Amino acid sequence: MDIIEKLSQIFKEFPGIGERQAKRFVYFLMSRTPAYAENLSGLIIELKKEVAQCKECFRFFILNNKKEELCDICANSNIDSSILMVVEKDSDLESVKKSRVYNGKYFILGGLVPIVEKNTSSRVRINELIKKIKNEKNLKEIILAFSLNPQGNHTDFYVRNQLKSTIEPLSIKISSLGKGLSTGTELEYSDNDTLKNALKNRQ
Ligand SMILES: [Zn+2]
Repeated sequence: MDIIEKLSQIFKEFPGIGERQAKRFVYFLMSRTPAYAENLSGLIIELKKEVAQCKECFRFFILNNKKEELCDICANSNIDSSILMVVEKDSDLESVKKSRVYNGKYFILGGLVPIVEKNTSSRVRINELIKKIKNEKNLKEIILAFSLNPQGNHTDFYVRNQLKSTIEPLSIKISSLGKGLSTGTELEYSDNDTLKNALKNRQ
């Protein structure tokens, strides 16, 4: 495998990037100066040093000092700890946070569950989610907020099933945000009004 192939393979792993786009990135980089490439590779290395993953919600956050284990949401005592919203990925959390329509806790599942998948628990953080629910003292409701597409629906179904035996004895309610979104909607790209309605109409 030559260098073009190697780099293309890496770009192909990026979300939403196919074979042709990956190749275009490589050719774009070839046309840049060595300083450009150095700056880019330096920033990637810095990113890994300056970012940590929250121990509670698994969100990535920028470290202010090197010791924090919790992100600003989980560390904030004004957050409503009776509601927990489960989202697929960091960018979903960021768009809900930005909309200011929700003031509860979050949990990042780390992906959606493919419809044909045998080894699911290795793909998403379902065991970590169960552990978190057991540790939360005031939890009254869990909101599943996945995109409204077949894989999002499947994940909703899967998580509900997996949580059943944990939440029923604790009388924790479970609802889905998806009903208030229109089909095919990505949570990440939803505007404030859409999110507000989706939250109001959750079931
Ligand atoms: Zn957190």
